[in-house]
Amino acid sequence: MRDAYRVLTAYRTEWPPVEHNLADNTNAFGSAPSAIAALAELATPGGLASYPSVTVTGLRDALGDWLGVEPASLLPGCGSNDLLDSAMRALADPGATVAYAAPTFVMASYFAQSNSLRPLAVPLRPDRQVDAGALLATRAPVIYLASPNNPSGTATSRELVRTVLDEAPGIVIIDEAYAEFADHSWAVEATHRPNVMVTRTFSKAWGLAGLRLGYAVGSPELIGEVEKARGPFKVNAVAERVATAAVRNDRAWLADVVARTRAGRERFAGRLREIGLDPLASAANFDRLPVDDAQRVAAHAMRSGIAIRGFKGLPGIGDLVRVTIGPDEVMDLLVDALESLPS
Ligand code: PMP
Repeated sequence: MRDAYRVLTAYRTEWPPVEHNLADNTNAFGSAPSAIAALAELATPGGLASYPSVTVTGLRDALGDWLGVEPASLLPGCGSNDLLDSAMRALADPGATVAYAAPTFVMASYFAQSNSLRPLAVPLRPDRQVDAGALLATRAPVIYLASPNNPSGTATSRELVRTVLDEAPGIVIIDEAYAEFADHSWAVEATHRPNVMVTRTFSKAWGLAGLRLGYAVGSPELIGEVEKARGPFKVNAVAERVATAAVRNDRAWLADVVARTRAGRERFAGRLREIGLDPLASAANFDRLPVDDAQRVAAHAMRSGIAIRGFKGLPGIGDLVRVTIGPDEVMDLLVDALESLPS
């Protein structure tokens, strides 16, 4: 067995069947409607007998129109996880360091390790912003940062990201899984820089986590290298057809989901304050609430049929629960549950 794997534990988070899943930042408002309609068209005899497109051209064209970038700057894969994994293989040699702003998405360090790179955590500043100076001081050939970050929810300040992009000695990966909910994306700029790759996903704002579809954005040269590591046919025919329909037809639906999520985020935070709790500001589709005992609070919510995610002892933050924003009625149920938390 590969030495680097001895310290790894396979990712296994799974929720028991629950009435309301507010635990994994998927879309609690549903899925893009054209995606669901497009599924039916594939349900014909022979509809799935052929391989999918190896270049995923239909989807890359649709994404290019939407984002305002050339299709050659886009690489779809099996979730943004796949692109992060592939980038760690393609963009550094075994043994190289991957510096990342921590705490962040757990799979960043996992994929570094599973590709025999050395993950190096650089703590966020006390204001939960990226410590650009400390990240750059590592001289790591790969720097990963997520904006908005998960689980801190913070959008990284543009000045700090720009400093990292301008001064990084190697590649910078910006994970934008939650970019639709924030005020800024680096996707277009990534296509003009030789050393920047942005990852995005259909799992969150588009409501299509079950499809397993994400994409990377960057210069055609960089994207071409990551494609070699990703390999062919990672985007299946269903995912391509369904997501292309969504990107072509459901942009107004997406805008509505984003507006409802942003409004719901503020409303939920306001309701928490009304019952004496103190949530942290968020730029993503989830709110965060520091608590004394994250496990106890998550277990209590579960008894009311609501899954939320508890994090224990996050560096610089402590225990917190992370709550995906859904329809107001569901958020109100959760507020009721939190209000009745035995002390
Ligand atoms: N990046 C971040 C920051 C995430 O929170 C997640 C999902 N939890 C992902 C990437 C993975 O997304 P995907 O479903 O596209 O693999």
